[in-house]
Amino acid sequence: MRLRNITGSREMIAESRFVVHEPQEYKGKWRELFGSDHPLRIEIGMGKGRFIMDLARMHPEINYVGIEKYSSVLLRGIQKMETDPLPNLYFIRMEAEEITDVFGREEVDRIYLNFSDPWPKDRHAKRRLPSREFLKRYDEILSKDGVIEFKTDNHDLFRFALGELEPAGWRLLQMTEDLHHDEQMLSGNVMTEYEEKFSALGNPIYKYVIAR
Ligand code: SAH
Repeated sequence: MRLRNITGSREMIAESRFVVHEPQEYKGKWRELFGSDHPLRIEIGMGKGRFIMDLARMHPEINYVGIEKYSSVLLRGIQKMETDPLPNLYFIRMEAEEITDVFGREEVDRIYLNFSDPWPKDRHAKRRLPSREFLKRYDEILSKDGVIEFKTDNHDLFRFALGELEPAGWRLLQMTEDLHHDEQMLSGNVMTEYEEKFSALGNPIYKYVIAR
């Protein structure tokens, strides 16, 4: 997701109390930052942040971190936090490839990937967030019984993601090729901005939940 480059968005992010500016300093210490030993869950590629903000509001007993690489998009989340601050949520502006510099071994309890960029060219497969290269990084930071939840409307990306599981040592816990018509998996579903947009166009939403 790329928005018009909003003038000053980097400066506004630099001043925001909702953003962790030197996230590497908290590696292994996120519980200290939040001031509680509640479970830590992260969304990689949060966009404007509606999903993670809804979750944080619904679950004060869980700590959340939303990660986004583009400041123009992240700014929208920050603006929403200014009118509705949530004590159990922080944002980071970063490239997800650096995730193991920011979270310690097994520090995270769940990872959400929602409508990740498809990177359709074969030579860009390593950049896909559900690729085996990324699964290896997640393996480092995720607790032993932790899970990854992935949603997309992109059929090719979903097929690719399923094919990455076995070679990377992950197993499928749950899967649907039409989330919005799957009663069991739909229960408790929190919609993302992209999910609302694409499901309104009639696209089926794919979802998996995986563990090691
Ligand atoms: N999760 C949101 C947005 C989906 S668009 C929703 O479902 O509505 C995908 C988002 O992921 C974009 O905002 C993009 O900038 C971000 N993103 C993609 N690759 C990323 C990466 N490697 N590191 C951090 N953010 C990334």
